[in-house]
Amino acid sequence: MLKKCNKFLFDPLKNKYLCQKIIKMATKRLRAYQDVLHREPKHIEYNGKLSDLFGQNVFHQDVMREYLPSDTYKFMTEAIQNGTRLDRKYADQVASAMKDWAISKGATHYTHWFQPLTGTTAEKHDAFLKPIGPGKAIERFDGDMLVQQEPDASSFPNGGIRNTFEARGYTAWDPSSPAFVIGKTLCIPTIFISYTGESLDYKMPLLKALHAVDQAAVEVCQYFDKNVNKVNATLGWEQEYFLIDSALFNARPDLMLTGRALFGHAPAKGQQLEDHYFGSIPERVNAFMREFEVESLLLGIPVTTRHNEVAPNQFECAPIFEECNLANDHNLLLMDLMEKIARKHNFRVLLHEKPFAGVNGSGKHNNWSLSTNTGVNLLAPGKNPKSNLQFLTFFVNTIMAIHDNADLLRAAIASAGNDHRLGANEAPPAIISAFIGTQLSQLLDDLEKNIKAGKMTPQDKTELKLNIGKIPQILLDNTDRNRTSPFAFTGNKFEFRAVGSSANCGSAMIVLNTIMAKQLRAFKISVDARIEKGESKDEAILKELQVLIKASKKIRFEGNGYGDEWVKDAEKRGLSNLKDTPRALQVWHDKKVVKLFNEMEVLTPRELEARAEIEFENYILKIQIESRLMGDLVQNYFIPAAITYQNKLIQNVQGLMSVLGDKAGKGAAKAQLELLEKVSLHINKMKEASDIMLAQRKIANKIESAEQKALAYCDQVKTHFDEIRYHADKLELLVEDELWPLPKFRELLFIR
Ligand code: ADP
Ligand code: MG
Repeated sequence: MLKKCNKFLFDPLKNKYLCQKIIKMATKRLRAYQDVLHREPKHIEYNGKLSDLFGQNVFHQDVMREYLPSDTYKFMTEAIQNGTRLDRKYADQVASAMKDWAISKGATHYTHWFQPLTGTTAEKHDAFLKPIGPGKAIERFDGDMLVQQEPDASSFPNGGIRNTFEARGYTAWDPSSPAFVIGKTLCIPTIFISYTGESLDYKMPLLKALHAVDQAAVEVCQYFDKNVNKVNATLGWEQEYFLIDSALFNARPDLMLTGRALFGHAPAKGQQLEDHYFGSIPERVNAFMREFEVESLLLGIPVTTRHNEVAPNQFECAPIFEECNLANDHNLLLMDLMEKIARKHNFRVLLHEKPFAGVNGSGKHNNWSLSTNTGVNLLAPGKNPKSNLQFLTFFVNTIMAIHDNADLLRAAIASAGNDHRLGANEAPPAIISAFIGTQLSQLLDDLEKNIKAGKMTPQDKTELKLNIGKIPQILLDNTDRNRTSPFAFTGNKFEFRAVGSSANCGSAMIVLNTIMAKQLRAFKISVDARIEKGESKDEAILKELQVLIKASKKIRFEGNGYGDEWVKDAEKRGLSNLKDTPRALQVWHDKKVVKLFNEMEVLTPRELEARAEIEFENYILKIQIESRLMGDLVQNYFIPAAITYQNKLIQNVQGLMSVLGDKAGKGAAKAQLELLEKVSLHINKMKEASDIMLAQRKIANKIESAEQKALAYCDQVKTHFDEIRYHADKLELLVEDELWPLPKFRELLFIR
């Protein structure tokens, strides 16, 4: 057995000890055992040009042109570009073309691929097959099947949106993100709605938010360029993750069930030497990365960047940015691919925000900007004062939107996992603020002071124009990189860094684009009013910007976001610090928030209410599972292991006493007796805390309201985790290594 295990996992000489330990644990736990034995790593190696692979498994526009009659192709292109509805009469033709193409790629089934509020993606596969007589069948896929499918909505979180007699939900095709083939299945990106038409997913509100920001931004762009008729939000995400050997993963029930290590003492060597970041990528990991990158490229995901991250065994992957809806689909696809391909390489991917206490957690930076049909990035300064004024307009409006809706942004990134990360001295704090760099801060401060009240003289205007004209140089020098800010301007885009690694970016992007739409609309109204009163266009814009710069000042923070002083300073400024998920989620109930989403036509009050309910539920379930598992591990793993060790110690002490006599024996057993005392103390304390937690869980479980229950789980149940863990981790240090029932961090975290 050892031989087989070595073959797959380790260099037998270097890791003999570890391998033996796994086998011991594996023998105990069948699953890990089977996993060790039945794995054959399969590596796809691709030696050709990566560009040849790109988009091969995607039904993109070039393929459509080839497969579709020209008028259908034209309608499809319009539907994709403008989000217009595709006429049902073309759906049959598109479906038939898609089917022919998919079959040529080896597909036998199709599925509507959607994003329920569980956070992952969902699929329900159907075969293309249609029997047409005894022993006869044809491949069939028509417009109706393309456009709509009916999964059972009751199996997905619906927050009460579901008539008791009507469990049906619908998935409906989103032509703006292309269909693709994975394995033998044609996947059709879809929205997911209830029988009564309410959204039950991330995609539908995201599409609506993108539409809202498109409309509002186009209107504002008209001040600068009449040719702008479409504005796309762009998203470039950076995905961080951990990799763990799957045998070790399977020997840790906490990683298996909750995605994070609920216990484990920090290893002697963690990330303190900072030798992992940007270091050379271990060979095994490289093989894994290469395979999932090849698969990603086939699916049109433009992944380009890979590197080690700060913590041991932590890595990052980033593609080139894309239109927001497509980028989000691609992130979800990638997370799915990573998990599947990791298994082939005897790894497991941990997407949890904080799998290991004591080393960095994982985030998913969301780089965001707006770009026009004329090819202009609205958050990048241009070549002349006019385009710079346009840049400034979008830049300042973004800051204002963040200022007015900081709590909402916080709510958008709230999750049980992210609570461990935010403000934990390595990730942005739970306080939302915006970083823009010294130079731009200076510029905004100047504008705030120098735009005079009353009518501007031509000289004032020239001076301002000169100032604004300097922006490109400013940014050239602007090497500021503040990694401690949750929302940072990085030269030509904002980077929302507080998003959790396991999150659907949709949640953050729905909020960001909605608040931006709202802000731009308000801006347009104010500027128009000024123009109506006789101000020139530029003057009206500048004066309005000045108002916004003043009003949004408190959200700008250039200092160290990790420091304690910031917490105090932020409090003085009146910024919120919503430290945990239930508190952050309460924001969804805010009247202002309900009004905002309703006005922007992104979420109805009923949809919003359902969403809040689902998120409270998600939180409760996560903490409940963690709490139960902690109780189990204390009872079934740690106490028995510690007792075995206690007995060994007792036997030893008794032995010494019987050989040396009571007094001399006790003297000789001084260390053992001390150990015995410590072990007993930690067993008792651990058990006590675990019992209190259990009692509190029982009380919390009786609470009806999801919100109140989530608060109880947060304040009464989760609060005992640290103490239980403290004693368990102490026991880990005290109890004989051979007896400890879980692989330790030092074993989990150092892949070679
Ligand atoms: P880092 O933040 O790690 O230093 P970069 O700043 O170079 O990395 O870029 C991070 C990400 O920002 C990349 O994934 C890139 O695609 C994305 N990005 C660049 N420009 C834009 C844009 N205009 N809109 C959205 N994302 C962008
Ligand atoms: Mg980044």
